[in-house]
Amino acid sequence: MVNLNQIWSNILIETESKVSTVAYDLYISSLEPVGITHNRLILLAPSRAICNINTNKGYKQIIRDATFRVFPSIEDVEVVTEEDLPNAESLVKEVDIPVTSRFDNTVGEEKTSFVQNYTFDNFVVGKSNEFAKAVSLAVAENPGSKYNPVFLWGGVGLGKTHLVHAIGNYLQRNHPEKKVKYVSSEKFMNEFVEAVRTSSNQDAVKNFRNRYRNVDVFMMDDVQLLAKGESTQEEMFHTFNELFLADKQIILTSDRPPKEINIEDRLKTRFETGVIADIQPPDLETRIAILQKKCANKGYNVNLQVLTFIAEKINSNVREMEGVLNRIVSYATLVGGDCNDMEIVSGALVDYADNSKDIISVEQIVNATCEYFRIGKADLVGKKRDKSIVVPRQICIYLICDILGQALPLASIGEYFGGRDHTTVIHARDKISEEIKNNSSIAANVKDIKDKVYNR
Ligand code: ADP
Ligand code: MG
Repeated sequence: MVNLNQIWSNILIETESKVSTVAYDLYISSLEPVGITHNRLILLAPSRAICNINTNKGYKQIIRDATFRVFPSIEDVEVVTEEDLPNAESLVKEVDIPVTSRFDNTVGEEKTSFVQNYTFDNFVVGKSNEFAKAVSLAVAENPGSKYNPVFLWGGVGLGKTHLVHAIGNYLQRNHPEKKVKYVSSEKFMNEFVEAVRTSSNQDAVKNFRNRYRNVDVFMMDDVQLLAKGESTQEEMFHTFNELFLADKQIILTSDRPPKEINIEDRLKTRFETGVIADIQPPDLETRIAILQKKCANKGYNVNLQVLTFIAEKINSNVREMEGVLNRIVSYATLVGGDCNDMEIVSGALVDYADNSKDIISVEQIVNATCEYFRIGKADLVGKKRDKSIVVPRQICIYLICDILGQALPLASIGEYFGGRDHTTVIHARDKISEEIKNNSSIAANVKDIKDKVYNR
């Protein structure tokens, strides 16, 4: 059970960084929580004027947003004056709801909390990820002390976000006093740009800084996407320094090591100063163990033969593997069959096998291209302009567009290739697509790499 004051103080913490200090003192913290009725939180304003300002100037909306974030089960917030107070008997002063406060743990959208299932217990450890897991657990147990910053990197769908959420969940449970901020680099970038744009009196930028610098643990997911926008990199640099100097824990994730990210050198150097842990694709046993864990969590009853079949089929991306598992189970339910019947399993995967585009990752195409041309990945995605690199790079971009089709925005392909913009991607794609028609050696290269990607 939480009482009204606990609820209100958690909401206040959430709103404080969203408005100026004056507005916070005058219009928000001056409200008094009087109770909850029909899932609506009722706040009493000290005067009619303050009540009106709350509604008209958007403070009520800020309180509402904070409330939904911290107590998703509260459906609305009302700011009222003495005269509009609901009947005292209808007002509840204590409710049985979980507190998710202090964690502005936004994943994608504003109101999401740390994904509940992304815990250390649910993270299956194998050789490919044991160091990353150990470091993550160590910082969750003891943030800001030994390993700082922590830089986790690895291919798509290998558990980086899972680990970062596991740290968040752990802290939430064991160190509720710590202020934790989780943000994707894209969100950080968008918010910063928006703050600068709307800031006539610097308040928005100040609020932005408060939000990211007044924390005990700062986690940024997918820092490789920081690549664009120099001012955001500058902001990140200062955010990093301020947190780092104050011994606050910093955790970063990326799809590649710091030296391969297309960002300012001074940021790269900062990212490299602590512990760098990579996550590689899991081996077969680990993949099976991951599937077993997922089944246990979801209550699926799938036998080892089927799990082994899935794990053998998909070897580089845990997310894809989970997708196939879900697909089999829902197909079996749909057709009223048994998900351990290999015929049902094949039935579930009919389109899937045809549509093998789904299970190829950018990494696979990049790796196949590098192996084929015997060049390093850093060169392939880097800045070198020698013909021996440029052509493989263009072929690789062409193949990514061809194989992954609509699955990836052109801009993110450009991003992957050292922060090039989408016009470069289009140019490379169209150039190779022309060359294939006229140049048999390029056509052969493309075909060979494709075969390699599909293991043909
Ligand atoms: P990334 O952020 O590296 O792209 P995610 O963390 O989103 O990948 O992981 C993708 C999916 O795979 C998630 O559902 C996650 O729970 C699962 N997963 C990845 N690695 C593991 C693991 N070692 N144990 C259990 N689940 C895992
Ligand atoms: Mg991720």
